[in-house]
Amino acid sequence: MAIRHRALDVNLNLNVRGMRPSATVAINERSDRLRREGRQVHKLGLGQSPFPVPEPVVAALRENAHQKDYLPVRGLGALREAVADYHRRQGGLRVGAEDILIGPGSKELMFLLQLVYYGDLVVPTPAWVSYAPQAHIIGRWVRLVPTEKKSGWRLMPDDLERLCSDDPDRPRIVVLNYPSNPTGATYKLEYLRELARVARRHRVVLLSDEIYGELHHRGQHVSIARFYPEGTIVSGGLSKWCGAGGWRLGTFVFPAGLRWLLDAMAAAASETYTATCAPIQYAAVRAFAGGPEIETYLHDARRVLGALGRFCGSRLNYAGVRVIKPMGAFYLFPDFEPMRERLAARGIATGAALCERLLEETGVAILPGSDFGRPAEELTARLAYVDFDGAAALAAVRGLDAHERLDGAWLRRHCSGVVEGVEKLCGWLRA
Ligand code: PLP
Repeated sequence: MAIRHRALDVNLNLNVRGMRPSATVAINERSDRLRREGRQVHKLGLGQSPFPVPEPVVAALRENAHQKDYLPVRGLGALREAVADYHRRQGGLRVGAEDILIGPGSKELMFLLQLVYYGDLVVPTPAWVSYAPQAHIIGRWVRLVPTEKKSGWRLMPDDLERLCSDDPDRPRIVVLNYPSNPTGATYKLEYLRELARVARRHRVVLLSDEIYGELHHRGQHVSIARFYPEGTIVSGGLSKWCGAGGWRLGTFVFPAGLRWLLDAMAAAASETYTATCAPIQYAAVRAFAGGPEIETYLHDARRVLGALGRFCGSRLNYAGVRVIKPMGAFYLFPDFEPMRERLAARGIATGAALCERLLEETGVAILPGSDFGRPAEELTARLAYVDFDGAAALAAVRGLDAHERLDGAWLRRHCSGVVEGVEKLCGWLRA
């Protein structure tokens, strides 16, 4: 039997040979296994929203459970209209239903985009775990562009200029993700304008992954599509702001000039997944329609995440770790470089070793920067501040005055899994 397996192995596509499940999925499975074995684990590894799906959206799903027909490959007409309307309303984009593609998660749409577009993928690092592996599966060339701590791990317009002027006619998809997974950073308007100017000059396709846009802690997200409308594809979906990762619904917004890409992706989708789950699409119409209940939900979620991110960031900074102030999403990207000598004395010289020992010795699960495209020897990691009961935290914040501060005591009571995890991490560093 073993011999037959070995023989068949040889026929594995070279692009996927040696590939392992995504790091975020793996850390989640490992944390769950440790919990089942009776260990206390602070799950700060997987980036999943702690909040429940807003009640009106759940109600819409319940009402549409009977929807059983295959829907159009590009998405339900009413949903494409609702998504276009949402982007007109929130982002000031001039788009219509014909510019929208719905898919089973934005991750799948990104895969299809890379499949149908023939060109390099440019990924500023640190970056979300799946862009580069998707390119590898398809056999595309990936150009990782390291960013620096001093620029808040952001892509600088000069970096993009340098990259594009070297071989200017090369077709490229440039990924921009903000608020960022894994850093929580976002871009000021002047940088977006400048990046847009460079992108336009070099006619790159900009894949703006704005899946955390609605989770900008002050509700002030601005899409770069405002400044480079003709070349930007805006990626989003229900997974993060609506707490519905498991529902699998993603959205792409295309400029009219890139309709050929939308058409090719729809053709590929029709031969693979056919269409996105029907009841979920009907429910998503309600989510994108917005209204006061959704606004309150988002306002409260942002309030909790903003306070918790600032609290964790300042705890870590106080412990001697360098962390940039998070502006959105639910991530921090601590840099343990100032402690290199002390960590080396404990036999820790890489981000992976740091995360491994931290999990073993304290039960705090975080992921090394190397999973996000950083060098193995760099002492960085991603911390997802999501291990708390989001429904209870939303209920608690609803009873507060608008100006009341969510201080340490409040966070310790309502987000204890995260606060204790960060305190254990700081204690472990001091030990
Ligand atoms: N982009 C980023 C930056 C993410 O963090 C994620 C999920 O973790 C995704 C895209 C994929 O989201 P989905 O496929 O659930 O729409």
